[in-house]
Amino acid sequence: MNISHAIAEQMENSSWIRRMFEIGIQLRKERGAENVFDFSIGNPDLSPPARVIDALRRVAEENRPHSHGYMPNAGYPEVREMIAARLRERSGAPYTAADIVMTAGAAGAINTVLKAILDPGDEVLVLVPYFPEYRCYIENHGGRMMLVESDERFQPDPARIARAVTARTRALILNSPNNPTGVIYRENVLRDVNRVLPPDVLVICDEPYRPLVFDGASVPEAAAIFGRAAIAWSWSKAQGIPGERIGYLALPPDVPGITELRAACTVAHRILGYINAPAIWQWVEGAEADATIDIAEYQARRDLLCDALTAMGYDALRPQGAFYVFVKTPVPDDVEFIGLLQREGILAVPGQGFGCAGYMRLSLTISRESIQRSLAGFGRAIRATACLVA
Ligand code: PLP
Repeated sequence: MNISHAIAEQMENSSWIRRMFEIGIQLRKERGAENVFDFSIGNPDLSPPARVIDALRRVAEENRPHSHGYMPNAGYPEVREMIAARLRERSGAPYTAADIVMTAGAAGAINTVLKAILDPGDEVLVLVPYFPEYRCYIENHGGRMMLVESDERFQPDPARIARAVTARTRALILNSPNNPTGVIYRENVLRDVNRVLPPDVLVICDEPYRPLVFDGASVPEAAAIFGRAAIAWSWSKAQGIPGERIGYLALPPDVPGITELRAACTVAHRILGYINAPAIWQWVEGAEADATIDIAEYQARRDLLCDALTAMGYDALRPQGAFYVFVKTPVPDDVEFIGLLQREGILAVPGQGFGCAGYMRLSLTISRESIQRSLAGFGRAIRATACLVA
């Protein structure tokens, strides 16, 4: 059977996260599961909020007529209005139900809007380091991913963004709090980005980690900064339910051509084969949109890991949000260092998987007890690099 060139290439370059998954299976066989410390996957391990599970039961028991049927492609109008009301309150922007498309997660939202706006050869700006699936999402619709370096603190660099814009630029993707760095983009920086972007470039704000912030930090409101922000949201991370594939796309309420963009996204969502977002979960999230997992637990894990790594001599960026720690590898070759960690049963993703060699990403979706037990291995690995350098 023929496999398309695009997919064959994707399988060949299969992401580091996937490779680590396979190495993990092997290591568990060799050393026993309790001696493998998997920091590679961003799969939330905390239980969903009880309120969400209660709402799920309630919705299932209500068993309304036609509650498992097709609906308008963009989702149940009542649920979309509930989401729009929350966004109006949060941002001050005049969202209505018509601006909301319920989607299969943030991935579904980004694919939908890219399908709606891209012609072959159109360009989408992506900031380095970046979530690796952006390349696939953009190329799925004939677009080209154009990488733009961030500044030394992993904030967007408005001057570099301005230089990267061409006549083919259709969108900029921003992800804050960021995967992999945990950085929250600062409001004044975003305002500068807004100033350098042509008005017809859509700003896709990929925000699945928005509520996962530490030390009381807050995430600037994209809709209030960029009049043309399309928000890609999902409850995957905030509620620990990535397998349920529920999220939304919120289109900019008040821009020229919005009626056409809404219609295009509704069609795009259907023809991508999503048809609808999961019906039951739309009602659950209409009722419990603001519930989150226990964020304090992620913060405690962050503190444990960052404090310990820093004391050992690692240069670990303390994340302000999301659930990843981005650490400079003690040797420039991140893949080589990842190999040293594997000998200690520790799985991490090399920075080059995110376009940023010389770093590694550690996911905090692993228990405090496992983090504690992994520390000796991190210590041995950094000491081993002294021999490599010597
Ligand atoms: N964007 C970023 C930055 C992510 O980290 C992820 C998932 O890890 C997604 C989008 C996709 O989210 P979802 O699985 O909720 O569609």
